[in-house]
Amino acid sequence: MPDMAQLSLADAVNESCPWSGKPISADSLTLYRGVVVGFCNPGCRDKFAAAVEHFERAAAARGALPEPNDPSHAPGVTE
Ligand SMILES: [Zn+2]
Repeated sequence: MPDMAQLSLADAVNESCPWSGKPISADSLTLYRGVVVGFCNPGCRDKFAAAVEHFERAAAARGALPEPNDPSHAPGVTE
């Protein structure tokens, strides 16, 4: 993952928070599928990040996605 500090409000693809509809904030940006997306506050961003991680882990567990980049986030696999 790129350094979050490099994310710029100007690069965000959305202008309003999907949760609240408020304008996005420069301290509440993250990357989704390689593009910058913004939220009104870090709490909204973290809620989104948790949802994405949840779905990606679920998909990976079904073999629907390539190996996750971070092995520590891999679901409990039985060999
Ligand atoms: Zn928000």
